[in-house]
Amino acid sequence: MTDWIRPTSLAEAVDARRDHPDYLVLAGGTDVMVGAIDRPAPIGVIDIFGLPELCVCEHDDEGRLRLGAGMSYAHLLGDARVAAAAPALVESAREIGALQIQARGTLGGNLGTCSPVGDTLPVLLALDAEIELRGPDGTRWLPVDDFCTGYRTTALAADELIVSVRLPVDSSSREQVWRKVGTRRAQSISKVMLCASTHRRDDGRLADVRIGLGAIAARPLRARATEAVLEGALPDGPLAARAAQAVLNDIAPIDDVRSRADYRRATTARLIRRWVLHLAQTSTTTNTGS
Ligand SMILES: Cc1cc2nc3c(=O)[nH]c(=O)nc-3n(C[C@H](O)[C@H](O)[C@H](O)COP(=O)(O)OP(=O)(O)OC[C@H]3O[C@@H](n4cnc5c(N)ncnc54)[C@H](O)[C@@H]3O)c2cc1C
Repeated sequence: MTDWIRPTSLAEAVDARRDHPDYLVLAGGTDVMVGAIDRPAPIGVIDIFGLPELCVCEHDDEGRLRLGAGMSYAHLLGDARVAAAAPALVESAREIGALQIQARGTLGGNLGTCSPVGDTLPVLLALDAEIELRGPDGTRWLPVDDFCTGYRTTALAADELIVSVRLPVDSSSREQVWRKVGTRRAQSISKVMLCASTHRRDDGRLADVRIGLGAIAARPLRARATEAVLEGALPDGPLAARAAQAVLNDIAPIDDVRSRADYRRATTARLIRRWVLHLAQTSTTTNTGS
């Protein structure tokens, strides 16, 4: 029979993880339960769903927004602080599953699974988020890019828990965009995802450009070649075309059950082009070329 531990505090949960690194950590269960019937039952479960210390949403002393790993999508959708700091995260949460999944599925679970089609991951990449991990040796913070190590693999140690996600203090001043392309508008697994964010300098040039892509590689990734093309440039039509070309160097998608590589390449390039054109159209500065 499966042993079941339901900690009542984060300290208890960390201790349980230390004592039972071979137990399954269960949050909302919306990933874990898929296919569970075909797998042997875990020898034990550490059930952290709804643990209050994992559901916090608060600004730290330096003004960064800290989102508990146990926050559900419904929780993210209903919080004005999240809407202010990370509108792209709210938009991604709104498109995840349906209401039932949004009520159970958590931010920490999306990270824990680290699927290439995990919708929040490109957003966290584009916002330079950091992940708080806690284990017997204490707390460590990892940039999300270092946390996601490969196809459904992460830097999480067997005796650690994901505790929270921290957004930089400047995230609310970033222009953010989220695009999910699937077979239909709702209840759809992504074929391509884009989250991009940027600042604009007083002269209208882009600064600190961050682009997160999903579903186009084994793991979510930053489009660094494209970021380099856009950094310091004035958005206009020719820049949009150059960026759309550059992103093809950032990605090497595959054919799979959801989509074809050539469709993913063309769609990613189109999303980038449209985003840069949108930036050009919403520029408050007269654009004289880049
Ligand atoms: C019908 C359906 C539709 C879906 N649609 C989407 C979608 O559109 N987009 C999308 O991205 N996902 C989708 N999902 C997948 C899933 O809902 C999300 O990935 C969700 O965020 C998982 O969260 P959870 O709390 O349910 O995780 P769980 O299933 O409880 O856990 C997932 C993994 O993370 C680990 N884990 C969870 N929390 C922690 C923690 N705090 N510390 C350490 N490890 C932890 C668990 O051990 C497990 O390995 C869908 C799933 C279903 C069933």
